[in-house]
Amino acid sequence: MTSGPETLALRGGTPVRATFLPFSRPSIGAREKELVLAALESGWITTGPQTVELGRRVAALAGARHGLAVNSATGALHLALAALGVGPGDEVITSTYTFVACVNVIEHVGARPVLVDVEPDTLCLDPRAVERALTAKTRALLPVDYAGHPCDLDAIGGLARARGIRVVEDAAHALGASLGGRPVGSLSDITAFSFYATKNLTTGEGGAAVTDDDALAARMSLLSLHGMDRDAWKRYSDTGSWYYEVTAPGFKYNLSDVLAAIGLGQLERFEGMQQRRRELVALYDSLLAGVPEVRRPQPRAGVVHAWHLYPVALELERLACDRARFIQELRAENIGASVHFIPIHLHPYFQDRLGVRAGDFPVADDAYRRAVTLPLFPDMTPRDVEDVVAAVRKIIGHFPR
Ligand SMILES: *Cc1c(COP(=O)(O)O)cnc(C)c1O
Repeated sequence: MTSGPETLALRGGTPVRATFLPFSRPSIGAREKELVLAALESGWITTGPQTVELGRRVAALAGARHGLAVNSATGALHLALAALGVGPGDEVITSTYTFVACVNVIEHVGARPVLVDVEPDTLCLDPRAVERALTAKTRALLPVDYAGHPCDLDAIGGLARARGIRVVEDAAHALGASLGGRPVGSLSDITAFSFYATKNLTTGEGGAAVTDDDALAARMSLLSLHGMDRDAWKRYSDTGSWYYEVTAPGFKYNLSDVLAAIGLGQLERFEGMQQRRRELVALYDSLLAGVPEVRRPQPRAGVVHAWHLYPVALELERLACDRARFIQELRAENIGASVHFIPIHLHPYFQDRLGVRAGDFPVADDAYRRAVTLPLFPDMTPRDVEDVVAAVRKIIGHFPR
């Protein structure tokens, strides 16, 4: 027998795995099914008691006084900016290394997104870049907790307070994260979470906005369902509970109780699922420690990482292939992978609208060229992690530089 590297699956060799391992798969337990069935049989399947309860429990977990469960994080971010009165003529500073949702919502309220670069270690919004981008028109900062690592929210919050502007945190990745013992959700004026299918807590589609501010909470709630003020009837003795008044042109961002029931089941299992993510990450870290071609995520001191994603950076200087090829090879070995994110300044719409282009944000540009998100989800086994690392090593062995 020869001991040379095994043939790559892309060239006809045997894949590392016999079956495909996706980069993410939701973990749905018996409890979610039980609660969904109960919601279906309750006679009330749109927004109701389950949705209200989900908002309450997310707020409790996130250390905030109010929680509004809605149908997406995108909706939650849009409601946050609308409730703060951000609009035409205003600027909102956000990270270019993010999902397009947080920039689109700035456009939806008629404000101008101002993109800035990220910090090289965390790929979170860089407070020094924010400081340079501040103008008299800046109305809000929109930091993104990349992969589940909280931004430097003390520095970002300090900049905001000094200027009387607000912080809306995109914590789509970061439910359960904390900074110096303070939970994500207690660190910004409004924090948005996502319960999309791939996130670390899911309702299929869903999200939540949390805040300590009574007026902002009430405003977001009003705007989340057409701007209908359902308490109006209480002011008139001669009308009933059918009465409402529209006090603002609101949106349709409410969540269904059927989906909220999934979230309530997920919350009961949340700490266990997060513990599982941490164990899998520890295994990845130890197995990849001897692989200098792969740079692992490095959480800062005092951070509890939510580990929504496990994104690595390829040391391209040591490899004779690029990232696209690397992911293609992984796919052939039956390992799913993804890229988080294609920076906002590389998308045609924002290049035209904001006058930005490739090369404008060196940290994000560099991170993007190297980025590979490896599989991470609670139902993965240690064996799955070993398969991923075996495939990574196999591919690296074929592309030495
Ligand atoms: C997933 C995601 C969103 C949007 O979440 P939805 O619930 O799908 O609207 C927003 N921001 C970031 C960074 C995300 O990854």
